[in-house]
Amino acid sequence: MEELADLQNMSAVFLSVMLGIGEDRWVWEPDDSAVFSVKSLKRTLQLNRFANLGNDFVWNNWILIKMNFLAWRLSLDRVPMLVALARRNVNTGQIRCSFCGVYDEDADHLFVGCDVAQCVWNFVSQWCRISSIFAFRIKDILDWHKYVKGCGKWRKLVYAIMQVALWVVWRSRNDVIFNSKEVSIDRILNEIKHLAFLWISNRSNLRGITWEEWSVQKKANKRQHGVVNEYSEIENKYPSIENHGEKSNLELEVREAKAN
Ligand SMILES: [Zn+2]
Repeated sequence: MEELADLQNMSAVFLSVMLGIGEDRWVWEPDDSAVFSVKSLKRTLQLNRFANLGNDFVWNNWILIKMNFLAWRLSLDRVPMLVALARRNVNTGQIRCSFCGVYDEDADHLFVGCDVAQCVWNFVSQWCRISSIFAFRIKDILDWHKYVKGCGKWRKLVYAIMQVALWVVWRSRNDVIFNSKEVSIDRILNEIKHLAFLWISNRSNLRGITWEEWSVQKKANKRQHGVVNEYSEIENKYPSIENHGEKSNLELEVREAKAN
């Protein structure tokens, strides 16, 4: 029966073939020019690599794969949060949020509801000069970029920064659990700004942008796209963010990346 089905499939394929006049030739279908190139192959691989992710997750090539993977796994609820581990009988000794210690740690709390997450999203919205980020679930955060006012590139930039923010929150949470580090809002916000600069300035079409330009870039974008500036107390709360002056390892990382 299987052979018969194969034969029928093969017949169907041949029947759909239209033979033209002229010599046979190879055609590279993924490109409009029909000519093969490594660039076209790379683009096709990148497009197809995450084409079927099982949900409507949007891949962002301006940041690292591991940052995309974290966001993707969050979209599928596949990140090993303490509550989920406890449900699977993995005993970690505690299920409370590593930042606040008040609520149980699930993705919606750690990345959205926790005071630390609230500070992060306040900072991102103020720094990017986009309207305030009101989210209830992690999905709201992952979809936020789709509704940001402005052109596609601007939305992609905001999305990249938000994905970097998720990654920094996750890394900070792991630092608290595995390296017994104290949580520091100031350090988290600075890391978001530095890491976003590091990757976006090296991977996007903003290549070559300087740190000074980066620090004011979003103001320019705000003017360009006419995004409403909703001023809140966060700028008073963290007045030192724009010119922090701290020579962190990340800053060295940025310099090294730019020098190479
Ligand atoms: Zn918390």
